[in-house]
Amino acid sequence: MGSNGNQKDHGLVLSEFASYRKIADALSTYEDSRYVIFGVPFDYTSSFRRGSSRGPQEVRRAYDNLESYDVFYDVDFTKTAMCDIGDLYVTEDPDDTVDSVEQVVSIIRSDGKIPIMIGGEHSITGGSIRNYRDHGMIIIDAHSDFRYEYMGHKNNHACATRRSLEVLGEGKIFSFGTRSTSIEEFQDPDYKKVNFLRSETIHRDGIQEVYRSVESKLPDKMYFSIDMDGIDPAFAPGVGTPEPYGLKDTDVRYLIRKVSKKTYGFDVLEFTPDFDNGNTAMLAAKLIQDFVGSRESKIKF
Ligand code: MN
Ligand code: MN
Repeated sequence: MGSNGNQKDHGLVLSEFASYRKIADALSTYEDSRYVIFGVPFDYTSSFRRGSSRGPQEVRRAYDNLESYDVFYDVDFTKTAMCDIGDLYVTEDPDDTVDSVEQVVSIIRSDGKIPIMIGGEHSITGGSIRNYRDHGMIIIDAHSDFRYEYMGHKNNHACATRRSLEVLGEGKIFSFGTRSTSIEEFQDPDYKKVNFLRSETIHRDGIQEVYRSVESKLPDKMYFSIDMDGIDPAFAPGVGTPEPYGLKDTDVRYLIRKVSKKTYGFDVLEFTPDFDNGNTAMLAAKLIQDFVGSRESKIKF
């Protein structure tokens, strides 16, 4: 600041030229926000194709392509009080990373706001969910993620559902799109404590019917976790562990619309830009809009 009476905050001015990339509609300050977006660039335990650590920045880039208004929801996203606090600092230690996710979500929750986490790999949900003990959970995932530990880590992305069960307890988790499960997971006596809704069943009966079969069992408050590999590789090729015969993009949108108004935490994970053709990034960005748009919408649908 100079001594010429110009009291402009140059930090603020410069940040408009050189700021880190944010979700384009995240125009709110933290204080005024209802939704707090952050990235977790962590992929250390990914078992097949690494690179989801670059997911958050690529989702933000893709988001630039979306309109700020959604005609279906009649929602202007520039007015939805979103803020984007950037990416968390992470180390290569999964336990540290999961702990810092827990802390960040705890702070956001204590301010009455809704966190939207962009991954990064699925292990980080294990930190977030510790703040949702009295909630139910919807997971979108090709995999059961039910190993007790994997490659020497309890906070491995192959253990995300298992860690969530330890927090939430029996009958509160609904995992849609399951089609990859090891025999050890399947024979685990605790496996039945999670409602795994198989991709095959959703193909056969349709998402509406499968959702209807569990709707009355959903708790009043929910957490929603999207592992992008739950969606078919035709729609979402850019993931770390792709698995054929998945859900349609609109199946996931249907579930988001059904539960968003009672959802208090949301994550979009496992997007791996190196293997993308652009579609996965766009879809991940759009799913965030679908969450906020359907939650804010006054339209009945
Ligand atoms: Mn997963
Ligand atoms: Mn998965």
